[in-house]
Amino acid sequence: MKIGILSRNKNLYSTSRLVEAAEARGHEAHVIDVLKCYMNVTSNRPTVHTKVKGEDSILNFDAVIPRIGASITAYGTAVLRQFEVAGVYSVNESIAITRSRDKLRAHQLLARKGVGMPITSYAHSADATKELIKSVGGAPLIVKIIESTHGDGVVLAETNKAAEALINAFRSLNADFLVQEFIKEASGSDIRCFVVGDRVIAAMQRTAAEGEYRSNLHRGGQAQVIKLKPEERALAVRAAKVMGLDVAGVDILRSAHGPLVIEVNSSPGLEGIEKSTGKDVADAIIKYIEKDSLKGPNKPKGKG
Ligand code: ADP
Repeated sequence: MKIGILSRNKNLYSTSRLVEAAEARGHEAHVIDVLKCYMNVTSNRPTVHTKVKGEDSILNFDAVIPRIGASITAYGTAVLRQFEVAGVYSVNESIAITRSRDKLRAHQLLARKGVGMPITSYAHSADATKELIKSVGGAPLIVKIIESTHGDGVVLAETNKAAEALINAFRSLNADFLVQEFIKEASGSDIRCFVVGDRVIAAMQRTAAEGEYRSNLHRGGQAQVIKLKPEERALAVRAAKVMGLDVAGVDILRSAHGPLVIEVNSSPGLEGIEKSTGKDVADAIIKYIEKDSLKGPNKPKGKG
């Protein structure tokens, strides 16, 4: 197959591993920077172009693997959609990526389908600080800026007073934020389940550094391999399915009332999970594409 990997940087660990795995299985792999693509949006012959050595070149692939960064979601998914319109198979379709990137929409969808999550309330600038605190059962609670990555916008308020001050500060920033029950029992650990198709192919537990409640590896969290319970596997697969994602990183907290999903990531990194589990995740993705693409290019998964 001729596979296009939509990524801005061919030197990223995840991107280069996907190229390696595709070539090892006899495919031709090309890394394409979506921001350098331009499109001809016509109904009879939709095409995606880029310049190769200064010359216009039409991109023809049998399959594409989107690795679209959060900061370029809109244009990245537009290019991906153009491939889809042209009949190219995509592992993770544009609609599923858009769904999962909008945290509020993702949360509402997961809730509608009965996927367990921490009790969460959303707000923008509504003057309802005390009500928000009450709705999640009071402090300790977590306040998150919706756009947060690497745990940067995730703050723990240990008392109702601190929570009030935090929420008021977030409101004055004019940001979308959520207020969430703090899952203390998780003890600074979360579980990243790497889902491919309808299986969790690798899982790692990330544990926060001493004195920290956020387990992000970027914040000094440590990763180790973990054996999942059957209900955790089922929950991760279900969350990915609800989002319509073929490949997803589903983050789970172990709470006193069972596993809870906190995030579904459509471009999960390969480095942490491959290094901590020793699993060949890139190879599993390529094998999945070989099989799933036989079903045809456009098969919208999930709803809403
Ligand atoms: P980001 O997308 O910025 O990484 P997350 O929602 O994944 O934000 O949160 C970062 C980390 O904070 C998680 O990996 C987890 O360890 C911790 N965390 C997030 N939400 C909760 C919660 N409700 N209760 C306890 N810990 C949480």
